[in-house]
Amino acid sequence: MHCSSCEKLLDRYLEGTLTPRQMIDISAHIGSCAACAHLLEEVKVIDALLFTTNVPELPANFTFAVMAEARSMPSPKPHQHRLLSFFTLYLAAAWIAAVALFIVSGTSLPKIGAAIAAAFGTLAKSFSGGAAGIAHGAPVLATFSVGVLTIDLTLAAAAAAVYFLIRPRLAAHLASASEAQ
Ligand SMILES: [Zn+2]
Repeated sequence: MHCSSCEKLLDRYLEGTLTPRQMIDISAHIGSCAACAHLLEEVKVIDALLFTTNVPELPANFTFAVMAEARSMPSPKPHQHRLLSFFTLYLAAAWIAAVALFIVSGTSLPKIGAAIAAAFGTLAKSFSGGAAGIAHGAPVLATFSVGVLTIDLTLAAAAAAVYFLIRPRLAAHLASASEAQ
């Protein structure tokens, strides 16, 4: 048998799919030919690499360990944008209130001032003890200022209440809802 004939049949020789006669011939040639014997060893190595399913063995508790590790990590802080969100909410509420007041009072600015002055006139008097002189000099302006300040504070308190009371409850509700799925 020539080396060229032997080389072509080495794969099938390893698979054992040759005829008994061919198997004997190859075996005899390999026994007497160092080059083909060496080639046979190389083919064996390549076959071993090709057919070895090299899946890494995972420990039995792999998933549990990974999840435990993930849970032990600090959760991302949702507080970074809290202040920004608060002021956005506050500004939105302030604008809504201003527009609502504008619509309710009609479209004239003096009417808005008058409405605020009427609504907060009593409040202004009670608050402007020290600023009585100023209030005397320009009562409408002082009343208007106090009224705006009071609206601001009220809106801020309302926005704070919405943000710090309702939002966590909504978040908790959403979290429990998503857990239930
Ligand atoms: Zn040979």
